[in-house]
Amino acid sequence: MQSNITLQDVFSAQQRIASVARQTPLLSSSSLSERTAADVYLKLENLQETGTFKVRGAANKILSLSEEQRARGVVTASTGNHGRAVSFVAKKVGIPAVVCISERVPQNKVEALRRNGAELVVEGHGQDEAAERAAALQAERGLIMVHPFDDPDVIAGQGTIALEMLNALPELDIILVPLSGGGLVSGIGLALKSAAPGVRVVGVSMERAPVMYHSLQAGHPVQMPEEDTLADSLLGGIGLENQYTFRLVQQFVDDVVLVSEEEIARGMAFLLREHNVVAEGAGAVGIAALLAGKVSNLGRKVGVVVSGGNVDVERLLKIAHA
Ligand SMILES: *Cc1c(COP(=O)(O)O)cnc(C)c1O
Repeated sequence: MQSNITLQDVFSAQQRIASVARQTPLLSSSSLSERTAADVYLKLENLQETGTFKVRGAANKILSLSEEQRARGVVTASTGNHGRAVSFVAKKVGIPAVVCISERVPQNKVEALRRNGAELVVEGHGQDEAAERAAALQAERGLIMVHPFDDPDVIAGQGTIALEMLNALPELDIILVPLSGGGLVSGIGLALKSAAPGVRVVGVSMERAPVMYHSLQAGHPVQMPEEDTLADSLLGGIGLENQYTFRLVQQFVDDVVLVSEEEIARGMAFLLREHNVVAEGAGAVGIAALLAGKVSNLGRKVGVVVSGGNVDVERLLKIAHA
């Protein structure tokens, strides 16, 4: 299927979600700037409503539904953050939400879902099994699927980050974006390459089971077993039936780099110590890549998306002490 998502769709999304999602701060980082000999800016989506950017895509999708669709309610599968965003937006709009999660989802995320009043369905050891359950519920109960990444409205919603960044920093040269299913980097990539074609877009994944990375190398979506990682929000496949993000990433992402568990931990500790910023593993991969010198030709103005901050406090303290 051809994706016809345009810059105009991203501008429309920005209007649509304005009352639900926050405009997040862009923080200049002198310590990272010194280390990289560039000007580094952090887009703090850890301060977004629900703790991650996922609320942008979920809000754009749900607010685009008809009255009749809203009445039926929404369903999703999620490693936690997307489910939390969907349940938050559904509650705000006043419609029912069902969230399917795998047994791997950390306890703090499960509790956050419960608080938002979503109906939880726990199924299987991985993201793919949870997704199958969600698809079954969609068919059985007529619920509307809010896909975590492979949906034009979700992608356009995530792209609103690029509009905010260009507004604050028109001279942006390069942006580092955490990458899993690719909704975030697709939205940002298509918006940036339309509005400011010279900007380089770099996706960052963890070394442990980077499915999009291997799919790009293979030239088609591939499947891989999940492995435990600090970047738990980057777990999961891109779907063998991927309709949008694989092509968008092929089209709009210039490079994908990978970071190790140790590098991710260093990134999290760095954000905490230098900036008082609490990032989860997935949120820190861009910093990890910068600190490890994995991105060449940075240019002058470097944007890094700190995509989320939902991390167990015990885990963060352990990392900070290491
Ligand atoms: C979902 C998520 C990502 C990855 O986004 P994709 O659209 O799946 O590539 C990155 N960071 C955090 C914190 C997330 O929740």
